[in-house]
Amino acid sequence: MSLTDETARRMAMLLHHRKATLAQGDPVIPPIVASATFHLPSVQSGGQFYGRNGNPTWDAVEVQLSILEDAEAVSFPSGMAAISAALFATLKAGDRLVIPSDGYYVTRVLSEGFLKPLGIGVQPLPTASYGTADFTGVAVVYLETPSNPGLDVVDIATVAARAKAAGATVIADNTTMTPLLQRPLDLGCDLVVAADTKAPAGHSDVLFGHVAGREPALMQRVRDWRRMSGAIPGPFEAFLTHRGIETLDVRLERMCASAAIIAERLAAHAAVRNVRYPGLPGDPSHWAVGRQMANGGFLIGFELDDAGAAEGFLARCPLVEQSTSFGGTHSAAERRARWGDAVAEGFIRLSVGVEPVDVLWQAIDTALTA
Ligand SMILES: *Cc1c(COP(=O)(O)O)cnc(C)c1O
Repeated sequence: MSLTDETARRMAMLLHHRKATLAQGDPVIPPIVASATFHLPSVQSGGQFYGRNGNPTWDAVEVQLSILEDAEAVSFPSGMAAISAALFATLKAGDRLVIPSDGYYVTRVLSEGFLKPLGIGVQPLPTASYGTADFTGVAVVYLETPSNPGLDVVDIATVAARAKAAGATVIADNTTMTPLLQRPLDLGCDLVVAADTKAPAGHSDVLFGHVAGREPALMQRVRDWRRMSGAIPGPFEAFLTHRGIETLDVRLERMCASAAIIAERLAAHAAVRNVRYPGLPGDPSHWAVGRQMANGGFLIGFELDDAGAAEGFLARCPLVEQSTSFGGTHSAAERRARWGDAVAEGFIRLSVGVEPVDVLWQAIDTALTA
């Protein structure tokens, strides 16, 4: 999947991040530290002191994430907890926020339902319009690329430069790509947020999230938000996420290579219309592949005739789980219009898993043709 040399080096480093700290007899794998309190005879010395402020198992994941992001990383119990932290750390009454009208819908609902009543102007904008939008007077430009579920893209470097010239803070939701495939901080964004629930943890058995950034004052606000709101990850969840991240590169390599093959075959299938996959040469997002995205990713959008055809396909295909969310080892798909996304009734978002690709395609083809 053509990692840059630098990203490959980071992946190898994170697999051995504990080595330099280990003494004879220490566990190689980070222990699950299930303690709310820590021995504290004096408040002067360093170290852990209370479970809402810090926990050694979070520290282990945060070291992995900070190696991947090349930035300070703060972990959260879900992607939405991370997104909330980034928004509450950067916005105040009277500010204007630009968010994608076609991105992850809970971000929009959070903004409309909780930020707007606090006096923040919320301006939804289609992802495809970020490139030409006027950001004058905007405090925070929040972008998601490729957007979930439409897979439209933002030219991150250009939009970040224009937003920052207008005085805005730029936050990027990098969930659909992960820091291995796309690097918004390198392209000028101030903060990255992500749902590590998806590909990084990768086994659909834990929710997790993080915020990363390179500006210490901004990251201190994010850290303070976690401590004061109490939105803290559990140590067991941190352990599972740490374990998942160790194989992120290997899983992504399979998932993205399979997605490229399946997208091509879907595009040639008589029952399928309007395939969206940034890796396909004709796709409106294709220009970004090789420029800001290492490859086309593992998400594919496509349309069947109508809701019935889509539901029938999903029910028939034995190798595609019918579930929401994406990025897990099992291929999974759903009809997004059931959530009210602005997509065709027969639109399916498919997250390609690690199944051997020819077996997976056989199952998809059979279920499409039945
Ligand atoms: C899933 C997702 C989130 C939210 O993550 P949770 O862990 O479910 O809270 C945020 N943004 C995007 C793009 C997502 O796909």
